[in-house]
Amino acid sequence: MVLQTVDLLKSEIPFEEESVAISEDVKTGLVLVDIINGFCTVGAGNLAPREPNRQINEMINESARLAKVFCDKKWPVLAFLDSHQPDKLEHPYPPHCITGTEESNLVPALRWLEKEPNVTIRRKDCYDGYLGSMEEDGSNVFVDWVKTNQIKALLVVGICTDICVLDFVCSTLSARNRGFLTPLEDVVVYSRGCATFDFPVSTARNTKDALAHPQELMHHVGLYMAKGRGAKIAKEVTFSAPEKL
Ligand SMILES: [Zn+2]
Repeated sequence: MVLQTVDLLKSEIPFEEESVAISEDVKTGLVLVDIINGFCTVGAGNLAPREPNRQINEMINESARLAKVFCDKKWPVLAFLDSHQPDKLEHPYPPHCITGTEESNLVPALRWLEKEPNVTIRRKDCYDGYLGSMEEDGSNVFVDWVKTNQIKALLVVGICTDICVLDFVCSTLSARNRGFLTPLEDVVVYSRGCATFDFPVSTARNTKDALAHPQELMHHVGLYMAKGRGAKIAKEVTFSAPEKL
């Protein structure tokens, strides 16, 4: 039954995914959205998976693979970490990723990033990493990171495809269109590097105030919405040698 619904959705709102080759000729930055224990590690908190999840595991593996390539090349990486103060909850979700707990730290497969000189870690207390990068003085850590590194293309991975990844991509593309992010041109969302969570309608019906959130459907919708804002959706990401003059 669920499979039929997914097939129907994919046929009703189809979109094209492309193979993206990242070249050393185009300065590219990698953005990791919330690949932290509280969303990815089994049993780590209120919003963590209850059991091992194939899509989340693939997202972690692909993100770790890309992060390794970027760090080997000393290319810029920005990792957003959802981190909330205990007295400032994020409606409509239960308490999660409280600052100072393991929930708000990178997953074990990515923890090594904390020591890499090309990696910027940004803790944020809202869905949208763009807004979560704003400082009290009006500066923006993400905008400064793009400009300082002269980034022309962004590769985005993480969780959740239809929430924090999508919100960040929407804000970034609007800001780019308004000229706030020069020289940024392209935003690429890597579909296998993203995941969301599974909360089937049968469970949601028995849970007060909960919205159903079937994983495969919402992942597809998230990518579709990102595409609708002008992001490229990548089904695979490879690295190509620089063009010879
Ligand atoms: Zn949060």
